[in-house]
Amino acid sequence: MRQKIVAGNWKMNNNAKETKQLIKGIKKSIKKLPLENTRVLVAPTFVNLAKAVKRVKKSNVEVVAQNMHQSKNGAFTGEISADMLQSIGISTVILGHSERRSVFGETAAVLQEKVTAAIQNNMEIIFCFGEMLEDRKSNNHFKVVENQLKNSIFHLEARDWEHVILAYEPVWAIGTGETASPEQAQEMHAFIRNLLKETYNNEVSENTSILYGGSVKPANAKEIFSKPDVDGGLIGGAALKSEDFTAIIKAI
Ligand code: PEP
Repeated sequence: MRQKIVAGNWKMNNNAKETKQLIKGIKKSIKKLPLENTRVLVAPTFVNLAKAVKRVKKSNVEVVAQNMHQSKNGAFTGEISADMLQSIGISTVILGHSERRSVFGETAAVLQEKVTAAIQNNMEIIFCFGEMLEDRKSNNHFKVVENQLKNSIFHLEARDWEHVILAYEPVWAIGTGETASPEQAQEMHAFIRNLLKETYNNEVSENTSILYGGSVKPANAKEIFSKPDVDGGLIGGAALKSEDFTAIIKAI
């Protein structure tokens, strides 16, 4: 059975003190929630990961990384390897976020290497992808999404998919306040699930969690999460306030 997941991508927000406070707030407010088959993930910035891992011990919250480098080690100033993440207790990493692609120039080929490296290092991946506004306006959004998956993650074997979470994030909805309608999200998620079935098999298709990301907030979460192929959300802005994040978790 596929899992429900709410993941908070904190991006370059929250210093050490703020990280401590936000984790404390989230832990406190979700303590009594019946979180059966639901995972709550938070992705603080690199420097705060190790402490965050300690702070979530004995709670329902898991700490994940926002990115990693594809190489094992070496002359890659400023970068972090899978082994470094594993060594502090992190086993899940977000890859392919649209900001990594557009601001930091991560290509489909680089992402393919990162995906391979993560799987080889027994990491779980939250793989992000999604079309730009012009793709949707020109009715190319399905093709764009299909190519993003084909070019960076469909090289994996069927057995690897138990370590993959997909996050469909239309770029035009990220941090813009504009959200895909629940119907638009469902339509794309169903398309992705069908691609998984065609490329792999029914099991991979049915067991892979597909999250929606793009301006999810307490006010719209319930409607989006009510769609049958939406298994949760990757949350940016609204993950920075424990009340909002908790309200989104409650909506699942
Ligand atoms: C994100 O950055 O992954 C995201 C979905 O951001 P926001 O919720 O702020 O649109």
